[in-house]
Order: sequence, then C-alpha cells, then structure tokens
Amino acid sequence: MGIEENGAALRSPSVVVIGAGMTGILMVIRLRQAGIKDITILEKKTDLGGTWRENIYPGVACDIPAHMYTYSFEPNPDWSHRFAGGEEIQQYFQRTSAKYGVTDSIHFNESAISSVYDNGRWTVETSLGNTHKVDFVINCTGILHHPVLPKIKGLGSFEGEAFHTAQWRSDLSLEGKKVGVIGTGSTATQLIPEVAKEANKLSVFQRTAQWVAPVPNKPFSNWNKRFFRSNFWAIKLLVNAYSFGLKHIFTKGVSGHKIPHTFLSVLCKLNLRFSVKDPDLRKRLRPDYQVGCKRLIINTTFYPAIQRDNVDLVTEGIQEITPRGVITTDGKEHVLDVLILSTGFDPFAFMRPMAVTGLNGLDINEAWRDKVQSYRSVVIPNFPNFFLMLGPNTPIGNYSVIAMSEVQADYILKLIAQWQARDFDALDVKPEAFISFNQSMKEGMKGTAWTSGCQSWYLDADGDPVVWPYTWDRWVSEMKAPSMEDFIPLYCETPAGQS
Ligand code: NAP
Repeated sequence: MGIEENGAALRSPSVVVIGAGMTGILMVIRLRQAGIKDITILEKKTDLGGTWRENIYPGVACDIPAHMYTYSFEPNPDWSHRFAGGEEIQQYFQRTSAKYGVTDSIHFNESAISSVYDNGRWTVETSLGNTHKVDFVINCTGILHHPVLPKIKGLGSFEGEAFHTAQWRSDLSLEGKKVGVIGTGSTATQLIPEVAKEANKLSVFQRTAQWVAPVPNKPFSNWNKRFFRSNFWAIKLLVNAYSFGLKHIFTKGVSGHKIPHTFLSVLCKLNLRFSVKDPDLRKRLRPDYQVGCKRLIINTTFYPAIQRDNVDLVTEGIQEITPRGVITTDGKEHVLDVLILSTGFDPFAFMRPMAVTGLNGLDINEAWRDKVQSYRSVVIPNFPNFFLMLGPNTPIGNYSVIAMSEVQADYILKLIAQWQARDFDALDVKPEAFISFNQSMKEGMKGTAWTSGCQSWYLDADGDPVVWPYTWDRWVSEMKAPSMEDFIPLYCETPAGQS
C-alpha cells in the first residue's frame, strides 16, 4: 500500500482480467508495473495467445509489420519476416508472458461465466465454480473470436470435411484432394496460396471481390537479426518508419483523406492490372466499391495463387451445399472432399456469452440490444469499474492493435490510480458524455471509405462502422488522460478495497 501526498494510504485494488491473449498479457504486465498485485487472470483454453492460438490455418500471418506488432517494451530483433507468421507471433506471446511472470499466474481452462456488479464490487463466477469478488474487471476477450458459419442451405448435409478457418483441422491432409474455400477476406487470401500448393483442385467461392495492396514480405537475414540484437535503436527507427507509413498512407487513406486514398486506390488498381494476366479473371477480381471500404488486404501471394492451373475462381453465387459439394446459381455442381469456411467472425459478440450485470441489474445483452457502443471504447454506461480492451471503435484502419491496446491500458491505469487515491469507489460514465462520444464517432465516419457503399464486418446493423474514424495521433491525444468531468463518481456503503 503506497502513501498519497496528503498522507492517506493508497488503496490496493483487486482485479480480474478475462482472457490471456495479446491484451490480457499486456494488461497484467502493466497492472504489475503500476504496483498492483491482486490480479486474477482467467483463460478459457489451455494456452495463452488468443487469436494466435486459435488461428493455425496454413499461411496465417499478421499483415501489420512484425516490428510494429510487438509490445513497445519488448522489441523482438528476431522476427523472420516483415509480416510474421502466426506460429512465430504465438511464440513471441508465450515467451513474453513467461518472461514477465504472467504465464505462471494464469488460471487456464477456467472461463468467466458471469460478472455481477454490486455496490462497488464485481463478483465473477467461473466455469470451475470459483468466485472472485474484486474491485475491477478488465475484459480482454478480443474482437474477432466468434467464428461465423455461413447461412447456406444444406451446409450440414455435406459428407466431406467442413470446418471454419478458426477451427483448423491439422490432422487432415489436403494433398490430392478437391478443396473448396468459401470467402475471400484477409484470412482466405492468406490461406488460398498455401492450400493451392497441396490440393489437387481448389475452388474459391468469391461473393465479393477484394482490393489487394501489395507490400512484399521481406525476410530478415541472420545479419539483420544480429544487427537488431545489438542495436535496438535500429528497431526503433524501423518501427517509426512503419508507423509513419501506416499512419499517413493506410490509416488516413481509409478514413477520408483524399491524397492517401488516391494513392491506395492507384496502388491496388495497378496491382490488379499487372498481377493478373487474363482480362476475364481480372474483371471478376475487380471490386465495384472504393478501395478501403472493406478491410484492405495486404498480400502478394493471392493473385499468383488464383492464377494457378489447379485453382478455379467461382463468382456465381452459392445456391446450396449438398452431400457431394457446392451447387452454384448457374446449376453447376462443384464436387468437393473438403469445404473450408473462411467466412469471418462476429465482431459484436465481444465477451459474450458471459453474463455481465451492471447497475440496477442491467444485463449487457439489454444494454447492447439496439447497438453495441461504449465510451472511448473502454467504458460501458451502467457497468462501473468494468473496462474493455479493444472495445467498440478501437480498430484503426490497418494499424497495429498492440499500439492501440497500450494506449487503452494506460488509460485504464489512470482511472484505477484515481480509485487508489480514493477519488471514487466506482466510476460510471455520464449519459451525455457517452452520447457525445458516439456522435463524434458517427460524425467522423462521414466521407470515410467504410461508409462508401459495401458490406463489411466493420458495419453494425445500422451501417455504422465500429472502428476509429480519425487519425492515430488524435486517438493518442484523446486517450492521453481521462476527462474526469465525463464520469460519475460513485461512493459505496462499505468502501471497496477496505474490507
Ligand atoms: P471477413 O473479412 O469477414 O471475410 C469473410 C469472407 O467470407 C468474405 O469474403 C465474405 O464475403 C465471405 N462470406 C461470408 N458469408 C458468406 C456466404 N454466406 N456466402 C459466401 N461468402 C460468404 O473474414 P476474415 O477473412 O476471417 O477476416 C476478418 C478480419 O480478421 C480481417 O478483416 C482482419 O481484421 C482480421 N484478420 C487479420 C489478419 C492479419 O493479417 N492481421 C489475417 C486474417 C484476419 P462478402 O465479402 O461478400 O461478405
């Protein structure tokens, strides 16, 4: 327990962190660095890593440069490529979590079933029947972790193997098989080149074409790695260069800034023009919406793969799935041994199905019934002392979510520090601040590529994107310090942390 300037003892909070993926590990490290020790970290699976544990499909990689997709306090001189593969990223998180002493304290195979707020305390019940009564809950369950299966007639009748990319069947060889992939998003464009090398025949079912920006995946030589190991400033320089490019070209390009958007458009159009030889195939791969409307794909292997002799791009709609394969709207039957569903994730589920009950018994499903929103992506009205990492409106167009998470973690720590100093027992957000934040999000969406007329996972049922519509610098500046006038301090009968 520390001492405040006025001599009063600082309170030590108890915290439950839900999820041991990239944000959960980060949060625990940051909490401990702030001197907070009473932390319980729950992880539903047997290993940490979240996205990188779940997604093990061939070709899985991060399309953000690896040196940027790294905690700022734990640079990695040993990345093998500009865009690291999933396994390498998972190893990075395992190594970092172990190094900072997080792994040993993770409660593996234990998920949070419910979190209920009462009088400044949260009661978290777990799948193993344990109960944790704590001052704060920090939800680190990520955005894209609920696989979506397509609603296609007959899906269940397929007699071959059918599975979602996030439920990859490592036991299944695709060699010599007739394989179908439904979807052409970021996942599929990484997966298709690898499957094409193995399968006898690959049918790619494309509903909507995608714009693809070519950024080569440069390998780092042993010399590069040795140099980085003894010159950490060089890594910093590289990160700054990547950051500059992402901020000023990719992020601005998709969020309504004309010159970078024109640059990206020309880049993607030239890429299609010069990478795909056959004019008919090129036509079928050409999207009819603005570059950046869907999440921009960064890839150099998809176009070569789709032109292979054993790969067939199918652009007729899927009519139904039969026990033998897929029938398209032109009546053609595509006979398959394996059907891979690269059909994305539900970005609005967040921590659910966990039950979360806030002030006056308010259920999260009720709070989010009409719209999934938050205040500053971190706080939900009526859920005091419950914080979200990577909440709604976090993603910044093609920028590193690790960088965004570090900003969010610092913001949460600043709020917790005020609780430690006894400024409040619990903190709710004012309705007007919540409304104003979400109006500002809506305002910022005007003129962005995301609202230019396409369907994407960025959009909610009202067509509002759940991403951050402004620049990276504005994100950092708005999150620098909580505006305390936006909050309602709550004082509890038995002050929390004093029991
Ligand atoms: P996605 O971008 O949502 O793509 C889903 C694909 O499935 C789309 O092509 C969609 O077509 C298609 N689809 C869905 N339902 C369908 C149906 N009923 N019939 C036919 N086609 C259907 O999902 P994702 O590729 O898994 O990527 C999701 C996000 O994960 C990415 O945007 C990215 O943020 C993240 N991710 C990142 C990386 C990385 O390198 N950092 C890698 C993989 C994924 P429509 O376009 O017509 O809807």
